[in-house]
Parts: sequence; C-alpha cells; structure tokens
Amino acid sequence: MTFSALSHLECPKCGQTHDADQVIGLCPCGSPLLARYDVPAVTLTKDELAARPPDLWRYHELLPVRAPENVVTLGEGMTPLLPLPRYGREVGVERLLMKDEGLIPTGTFKARGAAVGVSRAYEVGVRRIAMPTNGNAGSSWAAYAARAGMAALISMPVAAPEICRREVKVVGAELHLVDGLIGDAAAFIREQEGYFDVSTLKEPYRIEGKKTMGLEIAEQLGWQLPDVILYPTGGGVGIIGIWKALVELRELGWIDGPLPRLVAVQSTGCAPIVQAYEKGLPESEPWPDAKTIAFGITVPKALGDFLVLQAIADTDGCAVAVDDETILAEQHHLARLEGAFICPEGAATFAAVRRLRESGWIRADDQVVALNTGLGLKYPETVPL
Ligand SMILES: *Cc1c(COP(=O)(O)O)cnc(C)c1O
Ligand SMILES: [Zn+2]
Repeated sequence: MTFSALSHLECPKCGQTHDADQVIGLCPCGSPLLARYDVPAVTLTKDELAARPPDLWRYHELLPVRAPENVVTLGEGMTPLLPLPRYGREVGVERLLMKDEGLIPTGTFKARGAAVGVSRAYEVGVRRIAMPTNGNAGSSWAAYAARAGMAALISMPVAAPEICRREVKVVGAELHLVDGLIGDAAAFIREQEGYFDVSTLKEPYRIEGKKTMGLEIAEQLGWQLPDVILYPTGGGVGIIGIWKALVELRELGWIDGPLPRLVAVQSTGCAPIVQAYEKGLPESEPWPDAKTIAFGITVPKALGDFLVLQAIADTDGCAVAVDDETILAEQHHLARLEGAFICPEGAATFAAVRRLRESGWIRADDQVVALNTGLGLKYPETVPL
C-alpha cells in the first residue's frame, strides 16, 4: 500500500475529473474540486491505525500527500472529545460531547486545513502562497508556510483581530491590510502575481485536512457514530469535510447505518446558508452587511455553499442561526459550568444545541457532538474586565 490512496480530482458540479498531480485551483467551470481516493485499495486495519501516533497524519491513506517527506506538521490533530455532564444536564442533552479544536497549533481548527494544504502544495511544487482571510486562516497558513520554508502573503481587513496580525508577522509572512471586508482582501490577492492563491476552497486540499475532524470523531467513539454533529459554518469547509470523511469511512466499510444529522450553525449577523436552507434553495444568496462577533463565520457567500446544503440534505440535518448576544451568553455559561473558555463560533453551536433541544429536533437521549473550533484566548474582547 502506498502512503496516500489519492487517485484524482473530481468536480462536484460538472463531474469533470482532473489529474491531481499538478498545480490546480478551481475546476474550469468555477466549482471547487474534491479529492478522490482509491478506497478499495486501502488495506489499513483499525488495529494498525490504533497503533499510530496521535496526530491527523495517522489517516495518511485518506489524505492527499503522496510522500511522507513532504508532510509539514506542527503536531496537529487528535483533539479531545470531552463529555460535558454539567452543561449537558442543564440543556437536557446528557450525552453531549465537545470536540475541542482550541487545543491545536495556532489555536483553531484552521491548522488542519493549513497542514494538509501547505504539505500538498509543497509536494506539487508551490513555493509561494497568498490568501485573503478574516484572521484565523491567515494565522494558520502563515505558520505552516514558515514551517515549510515557503513565502506567504496574507491580506486581511484592518478590522481583523490584532492577535491574527501578530501571528502572521511573527512567522515572517507578508501582511497586507485592506480598509474593507474579506471581499476587498480577496480582490487584492487576485491582483498579485507569482503566488498560488489558497483562498477558501480555491485549492482542493484544505478540505482534506478539515475532514480529519470527522475521521477522529468516528475513531474516538469506537466507530459508532453520534446522532447529531453541529458545526459553526462560514466557508463551510469544516462541515463539508466531516460529511466527506463519513462517506469515505462508509465506503471503507468501517462504519454503517445512517450518518449523523449535520447541523450548520451561523450568526443572525451573517446567515446565508440558513436562509437558503429555509427557502429550500440549492445555493445561498450573498448576505448584505455581514457582521458578527464570531468573525470566523463572517462569510457572506461561500464558494462551497451548494455542498453544505447537500451535506445537510443528505443527512437529514438542518441549519440554525443564533444572535451575537445569545452566543456570548452561552460562551460565558459554558465556561462557568465546565471550565472551558471557547471561541464565539464554538459557543454558537452550543446555543444551537439548546435551541434544537427546546424545539424537540434534538431528543433527550441523542448523542450529540458540538464543535468548538477555536481557543477563547484568541478573543479576549469577549470577556469585559
Ligand atoms: C473559519 C472558522 C470557522 C468556519 O469554518 P468553515 O470551515 O469556513 O465553515 C468556524 N470557527 C472558527 C473559529 C473559524 O476560524
Ligand atoms: Zn466543474
């Protein structure tokens, strides 16, 4: 068995396939591309997997990096899946678990996408990357680019969190601030020459890194899936990745039965996916004047919106929006009951758990996994002194 079972890239929109061993961004039709694997050729057993080091590279057969020497790592992956007994009892979901992505290099799950994305870009010959960001993705990609010895140009709004600016600077990436929103940062990046554009879903491998959250949840639960997984959704890469992971595990024969119902959680300050879900549309409409304290999910129009909506439909899931005041109250509440200082995006998923339990959509005996996507420490302004 080779290190990776990667076979080709496939367009989920037009169905065209592409050679994976080239520098490639979007499909010519404008859609993101998805990595496909020769899953039947994977001979790995669960016991062999269990003996591997506790990082995301333990799943290398289902990751796109072909040669181990191209792996760029800071030790990311295998984050805790924590029971929340006190908080769970209060909201009426006793079997509530938190997958805590705060405990990962650069403090958010963005490190997973960056580790795999940078590694694979390096492998196909990229040495200079550029990206627009609201903050967290820029921190992660800049760090992994430094680790790989690559040049990185990161563009973010002046209003992006200062901590992310500092993180980009300290690892030696070039930082360009724009007086505007992420769309303006993206426009700046499009004008630059000599860089590979690694914007969200414009290259195929970030999603492969984020997919490992789904692989880990399944492994940590002994290959028995939970009933519901909630995810704070911005660009949608995380939720698409979890869905893709579970479909691949089913193809591998390691799991069976219905997939967990996937829930996309957004802020009422920017809820294009929720709106499309409620209207029954296959794609979202751009959200005007997007603004929320949960800056990681401020994405007015995601390139992969149609895939998020498919993931929800395929798993009988749903999409829910909660307002910023509720998000902050839930963040503080969870911290007091469980000692965990989570990010506002993560807190949004807990507000959604409470809401969906009250409506009966989540049942009292459901096993529920809520994703905390980042460290509360990156958001000091959420706790007034
Ligand atoms: C980017 C981000 C999200 C949203 O992730 P997507 O994969 O783009 O949907 C959620 N939480 C945090 C903390 C983020 O930085
Ligand atoms: Zn296409």
